[in-house]
Amino acid sequence: MSAEFVVDLAALSDNIRAVRERVAPAEAMLVVKDDAYRHGLDAVVPRAIAEGVRWIGALDVSTGVAVRALAPEARVFAWMLAGRDDVADALSARLDIGVGSAELLEDVAAVAQAQSATADVHLKIDTGLHRNGVRSEEWPAFVDRAVQLEALGVIHVVGIWSHIGEASDADDDDSRAVFETAVSQAREAGLTPEKLHLAASAAAFARPEFRYDMVRIGAFHYGIRSADGPSEQELGLAVVGSLQAAVEKVGRKDTIIGTGYVSGLMSTAAGSLTAATPGGRLPVTEIAADTLRIPHWDDAEAGQVVTLFGAKPADSATDLAERLGTIGEEVVLRLASDLPRRYVG
Ligand SMILES: *Cc1c(COP(=O)(O)O)cnc(C)c1O
Repeated sequence: MSAEFVVDLAALSDNIRAVRERVAPAEAMLVVKDDAYRHGLDAVVPRAIAEGVRWIGALDVSTGVAVRALAPEARVFAWMLAGRDDVADALSARLDIGVGSAELLEDVAAVAQAQSATADVHLKIDTGLHRNGVRSEEWPAFVDRAVQLEALGVIHVVGIWSHIGEASDADDDDSRAVFETAVSQAREAGLTPEKLHLAASAAAFARPEFRYDMVRIGAFHYGIRSADGPSEQELGLAVVGSLQAAVEKVGRKDTIIGTGYVSGLMSTAAGSLTAATPGGRLPVTEIAADTLRIPHWDDAEAGQVVTLFGAKPADSATDLAERLGTIGEEVVLRLASDLPRRYVG
């Protein structure tokens, strides 16, 4: 028997509303990279659209194209593009393009011109993470070039954005100062961006001054809280995905849970993993290739379901991550790619 990742779409809906309320009047973009943090793009996107989500963050173009097929009317934002083929695909799918280098800006302009299209772009300033983004020194020339290209009609500058570390308030404050300067310079150069966006989950919730026009929220939409941060309850969020498995065999001392291959993290999780069982929360005492061992409980029988992480009363992915020295996203993203998913709600 195999474990399965059970995805509660009603919890996703609740989180979408909770996020929206928390960040208003800023708009919340739903980030769906990594197959919607392994919750499944094909189910997550339609539910989000039904809940009124208008902006979806895809990361790469192939995800953006897949989102476009599911959401013909949404604004779909992709910010990891490699070269002109990617740009052509992005324009064909009417994606909003995050542009974090002068080279990409030229590629976008060239492809848009060839397609007689106007590319919707969001210019990215590097505010300190040094992961794609135009350095402050190069920003004035970059925005001047954007002004020229906008005048030619090949681009429309929709937004200015960056990504911050969210590891320390002081570093984030420094990043925000760099962002503010970049926005002023862009406006002085003649750009009129409608969407400024800087924050992801943690800063969007905790720090109103980081919200601007839009926030890009992945983790919190799925109910994955930050390690060493506020609880799900304090955030007003519900865990969406739960890793469940069933009792395979009941012994006199132990219960064997059939899981199949679940996760690259599991082998390091022995001693950290607690299963929520019909007999209460019990420690996982052994992790084998495709089974787990849990102490016996009264009335244990084959087929009973146990939750290894997820919604209460189980540990959340982040509870487990904190014991393993990682983050909740990592616990979820490491789930085996062929692990079956089941949707409820
Ligand atoms: C992943 C990502 C986000 C979402 O981050 P969360 O912490 O999951 O909310 C936002 N912006 C960018 C650029 C990202 O790569």
